[in-house]
Amino acid sequence: MTLIEDHGAGARSGTGARGAKGLRAPLGDPAADLRDEIALAGGMPELPDKIWFHKTAAAVIDAERCVGCGGCIAACPSRSIGVAEDGKPTLVKMCTGCSACWDYCPLAGLKTEALHAHASGAGKATVPATDANGSAAPEGTAVSIEVLGHIDSAWSVAGRATAAGVQDGGAVTALLCQLLSTGFLDGAIVTRRVDAFHGEPFLATSPDEVRAAAGSVYHQSHPLKVLNEPLGRGVERIAFVGTPCQISVLRALQRFPWKYRPSSAGVVVLAIGLFCTRSFEPGKLEAAVGAAGVATSEVARVDVRDGELVVRSASTELLRRPVKELHATSLKGCDECADFTGLGADLAVGNLASEPGRSTVLVRTEAGRDAWVAATGALDVRPLEDLSPVVRTAARDRKRAVRSLARPFDPEGPLWTSYTEHLDLYAESERSVQAPATFRSHHFEVTC
Ligand code: SF4
Ligand code: SF4
Repeated sequence: MTLIEDHGAGARSGTGARGAKGLRAPLGDPAADLRDEIALAGGMPELPDKIWFHKTAAAVIDAERCVGCGGCIAACPSRSIGVAEDGKPTLVKMCTGCSACWDYCPLAGLKTEALHAHASGAGKATVPATDANGSAAPEGTAVSIEVLGHIDSAWSVAGRATAAGVQDGGAVTALLCQLLSTGFLDGAIVTRRVDAFHGEPFLATSPDEVRAAAGSVYHQSHPLKVLNEPLGRGVERIAFVGTPCQISVLRALQRFPWKYRPSSAGVVVLAIGLFCTRSFEPGKLEAAVGAAGVATSEVARVDVRDGELVVRSASTELLRRPVKELHATSLKGCDECADFTGLGADLAVGNLASEPGRSTVLVRTEAGRDAWVAATGALDVRPLEDLSPVVRTAARDRKRAVRSLARPFDPEGPLWTSYTEHLDLYAESERSVQAPATFRSHHFEVTC
């Protein structure tokens, strides 16, 4: 769940396609440089197609596959994409046809399973695990399970100091507060509630701001867009807290940065991924809760635990429903997502496998380990040896994705898929390309 916790064909004209020796031709278009990097990393001679925003809109947004990650907004070097009143990405100024919105969208050009397979720990040595106090983790804790990705160590965690509204022990809130107060971080991109059903992302630069954002928001509010906004002076090391799809796009932005005006992805030194099987369409969820007799004005918070959605007022439980009964209120694009635990994250956090009041934390990378050690004292930690509930859910999640994707699930294949290929593969599916809403891009349509 979205736990914002404390939780083509033919060469492109004007591009710098690589020659037979891999050298770049002179560049007339900054996008060409970037797309060559992606093509080279993906074992492709070049990326064909010049993909305008209206094509991304047609294949993803108006095909109702958008998962609200904000990746296209973060990736757009001309800052041409914003959020429309319907909560979905839309053009706010002229599209230059640079193709970035397609290349970085996890439901379009970016094949996240290939991104993680290329960058995974498979074949790499497992490093010694340490706990929050820097002590060696129990022998045998380090695991590498295909469906879970590489894990150095696994812990059941609660924050030592609680904040109002935290979820499952407030591990992420406690960890971020500690890292901010010790200067390990200058800020953290987190999501705060606007109301029980909606959230908004922002850069928190103090423990108080992190505490004020404590708790889960089951709404994808384009948090990556913050990476395409000025972060402020002195903000050089930040954390990003988000769902696995968002972490994937973050990694792609970091791996293939724009050279002439990079996003702020490069200052993210810690990526915290939140276990997620699906996120909700807030309007639909609110309507479903209303149809069950619960007035929106009564709802103080919405949580998901053990496969159930629980709606509460300030003082009592109002509604409890199995999440599977709420499928119609969830984002359709989530069905195509094969990443439950945040394969690209430094730390992955969720509540599965830990008792109520505690969070499961998977330490995956050296950056994750550094943050973990730096959070000494802020967390009550216990080694976690039984990850079987996480493995089961991750395996189920992957099966659903493989069934739902109209393209092949191909971790060993290229990093990228073309618009033309997408058109062909999705043509017969219920997720086929749809004409974009007029307001979304036609007012800025380009005819060259
Ligand atoms: S899924 Fe993410 S990158 Fe793709 S269109 Fe939606 S917000 Fe943009
Ligand atoms: S299920 Fe996947 S695509 Fe949907 S919000 Fe979660 S991580 Fe993103």
